[in-house]
Amino acid sequence: MSVFDQMESEVRSYCRSFPTVFEKANGYKLWDTQGRQFIDFFAGAGALNYGHNDPGIKQKLLDYIAEDGVIHSLDMATTKKEEFLKRFREVILEPRQLDYKVMFPGPTGTNTVESALKLARKITGRETIISFTQGFHGMTLGALSVTGNSFKRHGAGVPLNHAVSMPYDNFLGDDIDSLTLLERFLEDKGSGVSLPAAIILETVQGEGGINVASQEWLKRVEEICRRWDILLIIDDVQAGCGRTGPFFSFEPSGIQPDIVCLSKSIGGYGLPFAITLIKPELDEWAPGEHNGTFRGHNLAFVAATEALRFWETDEFAKETIRKGEKVNLFLKQLTEKYPQAQLEARGRGLMQGLAFGVDDLADKVCELAFERGLIAETSGSKGEVAKVMPPLIIDDEGLDQGLSILEDSIIEATK
Ligand code: PMP
Repeated sequence: MSVFDQMESEVRSYCRSFPTVFEKANGYKLWDTQGRQFIDFFAGAGALNYGHNDPGIKQKLLDYIAEDGVIHSLDMATTKKEEFLKRFREVILEPRQLDYKVMFPGPTGTNTVESALKLARKITGRETIISFTQGFHGMTLGALSVTGNSFKRHGAGVPLNHAVSMPYDNFLGDDIDSLTLLERFLEDKGSGVSLPAAIILETVQGEGGINVASQEWLKRVEEICRRWDILLIIDDVQAGCGRTGPFFSFEPSGIQPDIVCLSKSIGGYGLPFAITLIKPELDEWAPGEHNGTFRGHNLAFVAATEALRFWETDEFAKETIRKGEKVNLFLKQLTEKYPQAQLEARGRGLMQGLAFGVDDLADKVCELAFERGLIAETSGSKGEVAKVMPPLIIDDEGLDQGLSILEDSIIEATK
C-alpha cells in the first residue's frame, strides 16, 4: 500500500484530492516522491505569498532553533514577540498611517474571524452580523455563520443564527443593489431588521470564486457603517499580505476598517499564525476573555518578522500588480480564444481566477493541469473558477510555464 493509499483511509475533509505524495518544495515549485516537478498556482491557499522555504526566513528559523530560543510560551512576553510587534508597527502600520492594536487570536484564519465577531458583539451589545453571499470566513460555528456558501454551512447540520447574508457587490446581477436595500431596512424601524453589530467582508472573495468588490462599493459599505455606528470588519486572511498588490487589500479604497483579520501569509513561511488588528479605542477585552494555547508561537514570530523585509519598499507590491496584470491579460485572451468554455477572467493583483460557464469544466481543467505539472485549485459555489494564485515571488518564466499548462489543459478539456 502506498503512502497515498494509506492517507486516503483517513477522514476525508479537504475538497480536492491531489493524487501524489509531495516531498520537497522551493520558491514556486514542488516535487513529489517520484521526482516530478509541479508549478504552484495554489500557494497553500494564499499562505505562501513569499514562496516555499524562503532562504532568508529559513536561516532565521534555523538560527533561532540552534540558539535554543523559546519556542512555545503561550501569552508570555518574549524577545521574538516584541520584535514582531515593533517591526509590524514600523514597516506596515506607521507608513500607512494606520493605528491598530495587535491581538493574537489563535493560529488560524478562523480564529481571527471568531475573535473579530466576538469583539464586535461585545462592544456593541448587538447580535447580528451582516455578511455577503459567497463570502468565506472559516469553519467553526461563528465563522461559518457568516460564510455565505450553503454547502459549507451544511456541515453544521442545522441553520446557524446571528447572521444575515446580503448579495455581494453586483455579483448576482447589476439590478440588485444590496446596500440600498440594507439602508432601507435600517431606516425603517419597523422593518424587523435589528441594528447589526458589524459588517464583515472580503474585498476579493477567494473561496467564493475571485469576486472583486469595486472601490466605490467598499466606500459605500464604510459610509453605511459610520452612519449607523456599525463596526466594519475586513477579512484579509486570503486577500491580505500583498496578495492583491498592497499589503492590505483595502488600501486603494482608502477605507479604514475597525477590525482587520490577517492569517495565512502573515506567518511568512506557511507557519500557523494569525493576528487581529483592532482600533485602539475598541480594545475592550478583559484579560482571559479570548485566549488559547497556541497563540503567538515564537517560530511564527521569527518567520513573520523576517517576512516583513519584503515590505521595506514599494517594489514588492508594484511587482505583484505588474504580474497580476500580465496574468489577467493572458486569461482575458483565453476567454476570446476558447468561447466554447464560456470563460470569464477576473481578479486583482495575483489573486486571479478564470470562471468556466460550462459545468464541471474548471475541475476537469485543473485535473488535466495537475497531470501536466501545475497545481491549481478551484473555487466558487459550484467549483466553477480555476484560481491563479502563485506565490508572489514567482518569476515571469514560472508564470508563463504555468499559464501555458493551463491553456493546454483547456484545449484538451474542450476537445
Ligand atoms: N477567511 C478567509 C477569507 C479565508 O480565505 C479563509 C481560509 N480559506 C479563512 C478565513 C479561514 O482560515 P483558516 O482556514 O486558516 O481557518
